[in-house]
Amino acid sequence: MTETKRPDKDYLSLEAERSRYSLMLHITKDIFFEYSPSEDKLYLFNSPGEAKDADSLDNLLDSIDKNTCELTPDTDTMKEILLSRPITPREDEIRLKLPPNNTLLWYRVTVRYNTRSKTLIGNVHDINQAKEEVKQLKELNQIDPLSKVYNKATAIAIIEKILSERAPGDKCALAVLDIDNFKQVNDSFGHLYGDAVISMVAGTIKNLLDMEDIIGRFGGDEFFIFINDASPAELDSKLEKIRVTVYNMSAEMDISCSIGATVGVSPCSYHDLFAQADSALYRAKKNGKNRYEYFDGNYYEESISYADNIAENTTKDHSITETALEIASKSKDPEGAVFNILRHVAVLLNLDCIEVLYYDVSDNRADLLFQYYRELNGQFNVVVSDKKKGYYAHEDMVLLKKILCESQYIRYSEKFKEQFTTKYRNVLAYSDGLSVIMASNVTPRDNVFCVMNFKDYNENREWTAKELKDILDVEKIVAMYLNGTYTTTTREKAMEQKLAFMSSGAYTIPQFYEESGKLTHGVSSENKHLALVHFHIKGLYTMNRLHGRTMGSDFIDGFIRLLLSKDSANRIVAQYTDLNNIIMLMSHTDAVKAKADILADMNEYCAEKNLPADSPLIIRAAFCPFEPGMVVGDAVEAAAYENLHTDSDENCIIDAVFQPLIK
Ligand code: GH3
Ligand code: MG
Repeated sequence: MTETKRPDKDYLSLEAERSRYSLMLHITKDIFFEYSPSEDKLYLFNSPGEAKDADSLDNLLDSIDKNTCELTPDTDTMKEILLSRPITPREDEIRLKLPPNNTLLWYRVTVRYNTRSKTLIGNVHDINQAKEEVKQLKELNQIDPLSKVYNKATAIAIIEKILSERAPGDKCALAVLDIDNFKQVNDSFGHLYGDAVISMVAGTIKNLLDMEDIIGRFGGDEFFIFINDASPAELDSKLEKIRVTVYNMSAEMDISCSIGATVGVSPCSYHDLFAQADSALYRAKKNGKNRYEYFDGNYYEESISYADNIAENTTKDHSITETALEIASKSKDPEGAVFNILRHVAVLLNLDCIEVLYYDVSDNRADLLFQYYRELNGQFNVVVSDKKKGYYAHEDMVLLKKILCESQYIRYSEKFKEQFTTKYRNVLAYSDGLSVIMASNVTPRDNVFCVMNFKDYNENREWTAKELKDILDVEKIVAMYLNGTYTTTTREKAMEQKLAFMSSGAYTIPQFYEESGKLTHGVSSENKHLALVHFHIKGLYTMNRLHGRTMGSDFIDGFIRLLLSKDSANRIVAQYTDLNNIIMLMSHTDAVKAKADILADMNEYCAEKNLPADSPLIIRAAFCPFEPGMVVGDAVEAAAYENLHTDSDENCIIDAVFQPLIK
């Protein structure tokens, strides 16, 4: 008895459960399915009771492979789902044509693999409305994707709102700006390049405006700018600044803009202001372009604005690298390419500074080739290319290369900086308090490699994965363009150095300072010390008067050669201020001995020179010890000062004390 009753109880509870599920399924609009991989068959059903009678699709995988699948156009995803065996729910968003309507709609498909039945069980949830809403939101998006300023509709709405809220008598200005001869830019450099110019111009103007000003892209190469509460003088200076900055924007081609502006006194409408500014723009174009004009009371029928031309308003946000490549390929020379790429990338990634460096591990040298600044001395979007060099410890160079080989980009941090020696740490310290990405595509076999630093002055900047990828690609493109130009061979370098020497072997002063880095960096590791010696050849002018110029200058050249012939690897020499003032940077192991050796050399040289009996020439030297990290120029000043304030009638060497001139 008991045994016959038990199934009844189970049956009742199963039936109750079934009806609960059935009810739930009818309430939800979801569709449920089961897919049997062994049969390649999909069952679609809305209630458990109808399971095997529901709509079914045969040979689903097969139809995908044969390209005859009618269920979905997203066949790759569908195939992935059907082949998956997820033990936790897997979710995908795909488009499906489902009965009874068979219209293509967006669904979220969730599946799980049932190990007992060896089938995929899942449900399909309609997300079409949500997708549509997102699409609409995107369409309503306020920012123009190319120029990253307000699109036309948004800018007009904001301006109208401001105008409606202003008190009678309040002043404002509206300016319409159009790039000059833009068709020519497109024609000669390509559409993508043209797009880059549009985005650079927009970024440039945005940098020049105040927070309260509003800039929008009207379409094409045309922008409008709304300025609230500007005095006539402020307005003048703002418009002129925009004109000049756009004019100076490209090293390669003539880019300029024309601006039409009008001043409005409330109450006034956007519509009227625009008609006035547009007429003023018409005059600016007529009067020769690259200028701004104010509305003079005359309206021109022949408007030139993009008001109704939305043809190109659909311009897309191009990938940074695609555009950088295009810019590079259209540029006349590598330098021009880099100038334009830096500006473009900086505007798009919203950066404050970009640096392009070349490191040479075999020479322990870093060359800073280009620097971009968003703002520099009141100028905007500036690229500078006055090249600077520095010499660093070999171990720092090797370490930097190793890190970059491993990770390609580094986010600058204190921890990163700590790994290096003092000198390189001091250089890196310029990045303290900023958010900096150092990027390089260096490989282990490169001795000379490009590194780019991408800097945001806001320390808390978040870098997206896409930005990091773009940064690395940009570095690759820039390096590709510069490699031929800046990776000089060893032979060329030797030539370069030879040219920098005077006939005596002395460096020019700039070369002396550049080379000084090489000498100072090795000192601490090799237990050596640094000294700057200033030599003064006293009596040169008397000598010239008595015996002609040649003898005096021969004496000096010979002396420099002698200094360099002794321990040349640890000495560098230059002529300082005058012919008869010589500076020598040296490393040594013992100051007392070094000084004695120098004095002995001076005496020996004068004796060997066989100077005439009436020769007034003597050599006076001042020896100034200093430590690595101290400024060489300060040691030079200290030694020169000491020397020139000493009087002596015979060769001598005196002590000078290092004094930092800049504290
Ligand atoms: P003007 O000095 O009189 O302004 O002459 P213009 O050559 O600049 O001519 P205009 O301003 O009338 O036309 C701008 C051209 O810009 C027309 C179109 O071919 C091009 N253009 C419009 N929108 C875009 C865009 O989004 N990208 C690019 N690359 N070109 C565009
Ligand atoms: Mg134009």
